Amino acid sequence: MADVTFSPGPLPRDAKVYVAGHRGLVGSAIWRKLQAEGFTNLVGRTSAELDLKDRAGVFEFFAAERPAYVVLAAAKVGGIMANNTYPVDFLSENLQIQVNTMDAALAHGVERLLFLGSSCIYPKLAPQPLKEGYLLTGHLEPTNDAYAIAKIAGILQVQAVRRQYGRAWISAMPTNLYGPGDNFSPTGSHVLPALIRRYEEARQSGATTVVNWGTGSPLREFLHVDDLADACLFLLEHYDSPDHINVGVGEDLTIKEIAGMVAHAVGYTGEVEWDTTKPDGTPRKLMDVSKLTAAGWTASIGLREGLERTVAWYRANVVAARD
Ligand code: GDP
Repeated sequence: MADVTFSPGPLPRDAKVYVAGHRGLVGSAIWRKLQAEGFTNLVGRTSAELDLKDRAGVFEFFAAERPAYVVLAAAKVGGIMANNTYPVDFLSENLQIQVNTMDAALAHGVERLLFLGSSCIYPKLAPQPLKEGYLLTGHLEPTNDAYAIAKIAGILQVQAVRRQYGRAWISAMPTNLYGPGDNFSPTGSHVLPALIRRYEEARQSGATTVVNWGTGSPLREFLHVDDLADACLFLLEHYDSPDHINVGVGEDLTIKEIAGMVAHAVGYTGEVEWDTTKPDGTPRKLMDVSKLTAAGWTASIGLREGLERTVAWYRANVVAARD
């Protein structure tokens, strides 16, 4: 078994860092964070420039660029309806993206890689809050099991590379994320951008009723993506373990409560109905963040403030955000 060598401390600001998925919600936030922290040698490719499902192309890219650090934030992501409707796309595309990127990173000497997953890796009915150790202790939530299995495979790949090759690779599992650059498509998005768009359109058109999905009773936790980006740099500089680590705020609200906060942030004052023919998904997925807190990191952007910032971003970028 190979030994993993890692010394905590600041990453060299001139090191070449490849952010896979740098145009997405997560990758773009990480890119902004690294730039703000003085990193001068960032590498990114749009999916048009480099399709991470193209294994030969990914190997050529790594051979040419030889990044020292990799943040694997590229993924096919979507809300409950997209995951439930296109499971094989979420399974297959995510497996290909991960396996190609990690295989190429291994072949081209990347010592440090951060793989990003999701809180949906945990069993549907796991005790709450979700501790890292609950992974693979029960059945997954069926609306996103395909995506979850791909992400679980990614965690295993990181662990296996550490065991077999001694690379200091790590993985982090963020809770539900939101913020600038999110997908606001009505059918493909997660709940927060969906509600922001629905409520804003209702406010603009003067509609007196909006219809949300499900019962409104599930509980969800939300982390602003700029907080996640901050956590990612913290983990790259300080965390080294085969065990994945949760990234969240440690508090959740019902979808109904969240909808009320969105209405307030947007200024929508009409009625709200709930379409219970749409799925609720998992009843609750609150992260236990005690491991990350003990390591020295906590979130700093409150949901109210983060929502206001996201609504402002949506209004300023409304055309770009439309599908
Ligand atoms: P999940 O966390 O994987 O279940 O994904 P979502 O963010 O898509 O959904 C979270 C919860 O919000 C579910 O209970 C949905 O039924 C509920 N929800 C209510 N209205 C909407 C909506 O317009 N879009 C989405 N995506 N979810 C909604």
